Amino acid sequence: MNLLLKARQLCIGLMCLIALSAHAQSLRKLDEPFSALARLAQNKPQAALDSLMAFEPEMASDPTTLAQYHLVLSQAFYNLTYPKKALEYAQLALTYTSLTEQPWLYHKVKISQALALENSGHASEALVEINDSVEWAKQHDPLLYLNSLFSRGIIFTTLTEYVSALNDFQLAYSLANDDPTTLSKAHIASMLAQVYEYRHEDKLSIPFYEEAIAAHRLNQAHLELSIALYGLGKANRSLGNITLAKAQLIESKETAEKIDDIQGVAYALKELADIEIIELKFEEAERDLKKAADIFAQADNHQMRFNVMLSLVNLSFKTSELSKAQAYLDQAEAFLDRANMPTHSIGFDEVKADLLYRQQHYQQAYERLLSAFSAHKKVQNNNSTERLHQLRSRFEIQLAQQENQVLSQKNAIQQLQLSSEKNDRIQLILISAFSLLACLLMLVTVQRSRAYKKKLEKLVNIDELTGLYNRRHTMQVLSEHIEWACKHNKNLCLAMIDLDWFKKINDSYGHLVGDKVLREFAYVFRKGLRGSDVIGRIGGEEFLAIFKQANGKQAHEALSHLSDQLRCIGRTIGEPNIQVTISVGLVEYQHEGTVESLLASADEALYIAKNNGRNQIVLAQRTLNPLSVQNQLSE
Ligand code: GH3
Ligand code: MG
Ligand code: MG
Repeated sequence: MNLLLKARQLCIGLMCLIALSAHAQSLRKLDEPFSALARLAQNKPQAALDSLMAFEPEMASDPTTLAQYHLVLSQAFYNLTYPKKALEYAQLALTYTSLTEQPWLYHKVKISQALALENSGHASEALVEINDSVEWAKQHDPLLYLNSLFSRGIIFTTLTEYVSALNDFQLAYSLANDDPTTLSKAHIASMLAQVYEYRHEDKLSIPFYEEAIAAHRLNQAHLELSIALYGLGKANRSLGNITLAKAQLIESKETAEKIDDIQGVAYALKELADIEIIELKFEEAERDLKKAADIFAQADNHQMRFNVMLSLVNLSFKTSELSKAQAYLDQAEAFLDRANMPTHSIGFDEVKADLLYRQQHYQQAYERLLSAFSAHKKVQNNNSTERLHQLRSRFEIQLAQQENQVLSQKNAIQQLQLSSEKNDRIQLILISAFSLLACLLMLVTVQRSRAYKKKLEKLVNIDELTGLYNRRHTMQVLSEHIEWACKHNKNLCLAMIDLDWFKKINDSYGHLVGDKVLREFAYVFRKGLRGSDVIGRIGGEEFLAIFKQANGKQAHEALSHLSDQLRCIGRTIGEPNIQVTISVGLVEYQHEGTVESLLASADEALYIAKNNGRNQIVLAQRTLNPLSVQNQLSE
């Protein structure tokens, strides 16, 4: 059965007292008597209550004092599991506080009130009351926030909203420290353990109980130690560790006795009796249960009175005393509030069915069991739905985290790819740009070098005045042509040209006009010759023409034609009186002799032309007398 536990009730009271003393430390609003009483109540709640009852402030005291007094009183009662009194005093404390003037104290009282409500069987109402205070504390006071989370966790536990309870406790656990004067990790571990216990996850509860017990032993926190030992004993009993469970419950009982926590003793006795029933120690069990029943009766603790009665029924079954069992069951029913105690109701119906069966009222037993079974199933469904919800939310969170991880990894990879692609692109662009630049530079360089080379060549090979090949280059070209003609057995003619009476032109018209004549001469020849022919300037007014694949006659004809065209030069250069004539020594290449001998022949023919009166072409007949050739041509 899922029972409201004394441990929880004690924890709540304890928490409130701890929180109260923490308030004194952080805000210094509690007067010293309350602070001292709060500290006392941590380990000896009954002694604290006695002192509080002895110290009663006058009703004329200031509201803050009255509020604090009633608050601590409420907590002391609460701590001793008198929920109705606790609620009464919390509500009284509230009348002395103001939300606007003392928000901290107001919310502190509200939290106590909510806890008292919860323990009075009004957990849903308590949850509504506490939520505002949790929100306020979250914004304004970390310690009160921790306490409010812890308190709300307790309320959620009562409402069997275990996931919410675990959330609050786990958050509180993460916010808490190990300071025993505040709500420490050990206190919260105790509650976490209990929630696991309610969820029938006893194994999970054990390490939390052990953590709490270790801390409480160290701090000699008897009340908390007693509570945690009680929880651990119960968990071990559920797991079948009977000997261990018994030892822990006995220690819990003895610790409670030390601090006069009578109900604490009763809780332990009840659990010990249940173990004694298993051990068939019926007399001891009955003695312990009756002792517990008396204590719970004094405390007006209905739930535990009900529980003890059921244990007595169970004991009566073992001793086969059905009339006794019936009497105990009737008493139990008197404490059962079916509306607010659903799990207790199921337990009751099961035991009732058992009794009816034993009394041979089979039909009634069956019906009772059936209703218990359906109620049980309903609760189980709620529990499993809740568990399913928790598992699903855990799964969804994990899934979302995994998805997020995968997504962020993908993003990282994509970004890497993008940046690498970007880098590649940049590199490519840079490389291309550099290549292009290099190419351009090379091109420019090549172009420049070509131009330079051309310029150089021009400087080296070309005559500056006329633009024709100079002497050196003309001679080189002549050699190449002769070689080619020789190789291909082709005709070649060479003409040495000299302007007649050129000195006179210079003398008569000036040197510049002489230059113009030279340039015009070059122009006429360059334009008039075939592409394959060559004309070069080999001296002042001396030129050499090379006629490729032409015999003497063909060359003569070309020269004659060009010679005629020279007549226009005077007019062209604006000196119409100037008559430009040339004397030409022409020679045919006979595939023999050297360049020099050929030139010499041409020169000879030119000499003849000059001597013969100028303005004529003389073809040197190398085998013949050049003069006779001239004669032949003139014919
Ligand atoms: P001939 O008919 O016998 O050849 O008589 P010519 O006057 O043409 O020959 P000569 O050798 O007596 O004179 C050649 C002149 O050519 C001398 C020189 O001043 C002139 N001359 C040589 N080179 C240049 C030049 O580049 N420019 C000019 N304007 N005159 C030049
Ligand atoms: Mg000359
Ligand atoms: Mg001359």
